[in-house]
Amino acid sequence: MIQYKSEREIELMRAAGLVVGRTLEKLRAAVEPGISTADLDAIAEESIRGEGATPSFLGYRGFPACICTSINGEIVHGIPSPAAVVKAGDVLSIDCGAIVEGYHGDSAVTVPVGEVDPSRLELLRVTEESLWHGIAAARLGGRLTDISHAIESYIRSQAHPDGGEWGIVEEYVGHGIGTEMHQDPQVYNYAPKGPGRGPKLEKGLALAVEPMVNLGSRLTRVLDDGWTVVTQDGSPSAHFEHTFTLTEEGPWVLTALDGGKAKLAELAAVSATSAPA
Ligand code: MG
Ligand code: MG
Repeated sequence: MIQYKSEREIELMRAAGLVVGRTLEKLRAAVEPGISTADLDAIAEESIRGEGATPSFLGYRGFPACICTSINGEIVHGIPSPAAVVKAGDVLSIDCGAIVEGYHGDSAVTVPVGEVDPSRLELLRVTEESLWHGIAAARLGGRLTDISHAIESYIRSQAHPDGGEWGIVEEYVGHGIGTEMHQDPQVYNYAPKGPGRGPKLEKGLALAVEPMVNLGSRLTRVLDDGWTVVTQDGSPSAHFEHTFTLTEEGPWVLTALDGGKAKLAELAAVSATSAPA
């Protein structure tokens, strides 16, 4: 069932979103060759609790940490560990969630560690841009697959740096969010039947949109730890996520420190100049 939030509830989700956004900023700044993902988890826990919020992930179905940390061919749900030390050239996905007065925020970034191969940087750029294209396609009165279609078509429109094909992960998807981290509806990162389908986008809906893109094949498998999702071919993967809601003025990105203003204005300017006269 889709949960529609009141303005008061959305304000709490904004508070949770800001905790997540600020925590990810701290983590991004802390990432450097030689740091372990357990060190990053400790920074995350201090940041979230320091703001009076609760980590969403810790204890979720038994997950043992406050963030998921996924390196290179790990796609999502990697478990922080003192043994997982990042080195220059790696790409590290960090997924973070926090709860304020019962309401969740959920966001993820993929960060380059030191100097990184250009094709990996392009993977990160395309994945992050696809997230923003998905959010920008959402409007009150629209439909859910408007978002999915915008994500997929943006990715497919971008040249692959090695002449291959982007692997858009299908087994893991975005979701509604509110008093639980994962709610209806599921938000796919591809739309085989195109835009204009699925539930109507209405006021009070909050969604976590999270494209996962592999430089190689889209196929995944889960490691023996029962959590870590990896690419079957070992190719690197990127993951970007934001939680957002819709207002009369457009999307309000609850986990972006500026509410998504700068990026959405940039995309609106680009689409205005590329529209036919
Ligand atoms: Mg997440
Ligand atoms: Mg999520």
